[in-house]
Amino acid sequence: MYPSRFRYEAPRSLAEALDLLRTGDEAKVLAGGQSLVPLMKLRFAAPGLVVDINNVPGLAHHELDAEGNLHVGALCRHADLERSQLLKAVQPTMAAAAPLIADPIVRNRGTLVGSLCHADPQGDWASVVLALDGAIVAEGPAGRRTIAARDFVLGPFQNALAPDEIAVEAVIPAPRGTPAGGYLKLERRVGDFATVGVAVAVETQADMVTRAGIALTGVGGSTIEATDAEHALVGGALTPDRVAEAADLAAAAARPKTDHRGTAEFKRHLVRTFVVRALGRTGEEAA
Ligand SMILES: Cc1cc2nc3c(=O)[nH]c(=O)nc-3n(C[C@H](O)[C@H](O)[C@H](O)COP(=O)(O)OP(=O)(O)OC[C@H]3O[C@@H](n4cnc5c(N)ncnc54)[C@H](O)[C@@H]3O)c2cc1C
Repeated sequence: MYPSRFRYEAPRSLAEALDLLRTGDEAKVLAGGQSLVPLMKLRFAAPGLVVDINNVPGLAHHELDAEGNLHVGALCRHADLERSQLLKAVQPTMAAAAPLIADPIVRNRGTLVGSLCHADPQGDWASVVLALDGAIVAEGPAGRRTIAARDFVLGPFQNALAPDEIAVEAVIPAPRGTPAGGYLKLERRVGDFATVGVAVAVETQADMVTRAGIALTGVGGSTIEATDAEHALVGGALTPDRVAEAADLAAAAARPKTDHRGTAEFKRHLVRTFVVRALGRTGEEAA
């Protein structure tokens, strides 16, 4: 199907892009286009104006600041993160997730920030950024504001941005201990959305867990933060008993439905198994 009629603009600065959004023409930002374009072709989205930000400079970065916080710009592609030596060195949960997003074609264009803005309950990055206690930086007429990832998604395909705001980057706070973790995902075939995805991010100091983040993809109407499981890990070592308790609590937090991807029991079992595997690897790395 062809999209509805729309105006297309490709501004060369962020200020120009923000001005265009203010025209109130039912505008949509276009980043990688890997979700917006299919929606437009299916006519589930019919914006009057598409503001393509691909010519806006200064948004393609992923880098550490002086304090060790990781900044991922709005035009940093999934593929940039997949190939990133920086992520491999400092951010194991994101490094594990990047190659599991969609397929190589989608990864070449799609962006992490676009993925967060799209707010698909099946999106992988939402779980990863939630587990890492990340945030989204939005710029609008009143300047910049930072929105915690847990407050950013208001519902399926709904985010907290005002219509005249652009998400300029995602920020992952610097770890205060040794970071470890991973992202495990079962997909029916390569490039599919998750049957179940589990993001695990822990920080340890002298074998003691000082911070834990666990978030689940594909097992509820939205991304789920397994807070009871997180709390069960903090303050002790990653012993088999504590890992098993956290895995049970994460499985209890899941709200899976039986569908073409599998039964609810199967998906809950996968959550438990993935938490044990991700934390088991973490324990091995720490040893
Ligand atoms: C075949 C296929 C398989 C896929 N599989 C997966 C998968 O396994 N896992 C997964 O997580 N995702 C998957 N995706 C989605 C993919 O990751 C998209 O790239 C991502 O969801 C959106 O990023 P984008 O940059 O392409 O955003 P776009 O499509 O450009 O935009 C998506 C939405 O976000 C808004 N937006 C984008 N950037 C901004 C911004 N900077 N500020 C404000 N609003 C913005 C747009 O207006 C639009 O509403 C798949 C997509 C396809 C086509």
